[in-house]
Amino acid sequence: MPVYSKESLETLRQKIDLADLLASHLDLKKAGAAYKALCPFHDEKTPSFTLQKGDTHYHCFGCGAHGDGIQFLMTHLKMGFSDAVDSLAQRYHVHLEHVEGTAEQKGPPKALIKEALEQASRFYHFYLLHTPEGHAALRYLYSRGLDLDFIRHFMIGLAPSTPHLFRKVMHGKAISDEIMEAAGLLAARENGGWRDFFSDRITFPICDATGAVIGFSARKYKEETFGGKYVNTSETALFKKSKVLFGLHHSRKRIAKERKALIVEGQIDALRLIQVGFNITVAGQGTAFGEGHVKELMTLGVNLVYLSLDSDNAGNEATSKIGDLFQKQGVEVRIVQMPAGMDPDSFLREHGANDFLKLLDESIDYLTFIVSYQSRHLNVNSPAGKNELIQLVTKQVRTWNHPVMVQESLRKLAFLTQVSEEMIGAIQDHTPNIYIRKPGNIGLETIDPDRILESDFLRWLLLTGEMQSRFSELAKVNITHKHFRSDVCRQIYSAFIERFEKDQQRDLTSLMLAVEHPEAQKLISDLTHKKINREKAEEHYAETLQKMLDRHWMQQRETVKMKIQSGQCSDEELLLLLKELDNLKNVQPKIIDSTH
Ligand code: ZN
Repeated sequence: MPVYSKESLETLRQKIDLADLLASHLDLKKAGAAYKALCPFHDEKTPSFTLQKGDTHYHCFGCGAHGDGIQFLMTHLKMGFSDAVDSLAQRYHVHLEHVEGTAEQKGPPKALIKEALEQASRFYHFYLLHTPEGHAALRYLYSRGLDLDFIRHFMIGLAPSTPHLFRKVMHGKAISDEIMEAAGLLAARENGGWRDFFSDRITFPICDATGAVIGFSARKYKEETFGGKYVNTSETALFKKSKVLFGLHHSRKRIAKERKALIVEGQIDALRLIQVGFNITVAGQGTAFGEGHVKELMTLGVNLVYLSLDSDNAGNEATSKIGDLFQKQGVEVRIVQMPAGMDPDSFLREHGANDFLKLLDESIDYLTFIVSYQSRHLNVNSPAGKNELIQLVTKQVRTWNHPVMVQESLRKLAFLTQVSEEMIGAIQDHTPNIYIRKPGNIGLETIDPDRILESDFLRWLLLTGEMQSRFSELAKVNITHKHFRSDVCRQIYSAFIERFEKDQQRDLTSLMLAVEHPEAQKLISDLTHKKINREKAEEHYAETLQKMLDRHWMQQRETVKMKIQSGQCSDEELLLLLKELDNLKNVQPKIIDSTH
């Protein structure tokens, strides 16, 4: 892929006349200061696809599709990034500069690769339906309860076991070995020559968002076939492993609409679920499921994910890993518990779609799953075992990026393990337990990560002696009362900064006198008993300060997002909010330091 300089891409983005571009693909109508059209990304009868005059981004109020000209070509037409950029550069007469050291695009044009994949898909499908070898594979598919309609609908095929048969047929369609290699259909042998990449396997085409075949997932149907259960197309110009989700082409619309997805292991599971109406299903690419896939689903707005993987060890391991990737991003994860020895496919055949729906309803939350999963090798009846379990889970939960999710999960962990919430707070690594009341004084107090952070911040501010001036100055420039969530901490901070500005005494006693709230006084008093590592003060203070800034920044983003999702705003307001969100995304706060 050619890499263009940032400057020239920026120039291009400015030169794109989005109204002009959209008009050549959609029936764009003028409506006041905006253009409207029927959205190409979801089915609708009244237009909700909008472009403000002079804006560089379109937005759909129906499905949330949002992007610029480049993105439009990438999603509406089947173009890759560089293809989209190239064609726009041509259309709007912008010369694109290559970044030094990157060559012009190598390998055959993508259009040819796509054509090869399309032909291959048709051939495999034909071979399954109309040859003796195909019939053996068909019998296998029938035995799994798939019918002809299903096989036709999803273009399931068979890669022949006879070497070079596929290659010859493709040659007959004027498709060269090099193109087939670029498409991932042939692999070069070390000693020269070629081998079929897929052989003696049932093939499932994998399509991009617009339905073009970009690769295959191939499953063996005979025990003796060499290799693993599934073989997938390897990385090509079109097939990006880190992003591709099997079945997404069929499920995309509804996932975007309902903002939830169901993730299963196998292709047959996925297709069967899609066929009976669970068209929110995708299959991960086995153990390769990673952050790219999470991102792909989050782009569609997903905030709830059901995992229905195998219930064996490998499946549980994958559930633990994949679930964590989503939770980390604040996406709620629920685990669908399949009866032993069943997968979604066999379950559906035996019990039907309604019962599967019940399984979704009865799914358990990720934390419950992880507690039982982590305790499999521990004796949780012993204090040491229980302690280890809580350590393991707490550590994991604290890596998640969303404070509310962390807080709720810790609270739940306390409940599940039958220890007090205070204990869960005490067990974690870096938290000062200043806010935790002594036993005997336990009310409804809960673990509050916000207050932990804020107390921590105050602690550095209040206790660092000769560094106090510098730290106070930093605080004054960077932190306002808006950065606080805990009233008590906010009150202490306001009192402190006020005294700092007036150059008044800032010792703890005079500060205690300045705050009225007894809880604030107690917190200050607790802070006086804390020991502090002065050598690391600078570093720790900066870290805490940054956390405060980041949290506030994330909250601002969440607030804007919630306004956007509230459905209470006019179109104009929404566009403003979307811009605000874009701006916020681009400016992660940095500590301003004027003391040097
Ligand atoms: Zn739409």
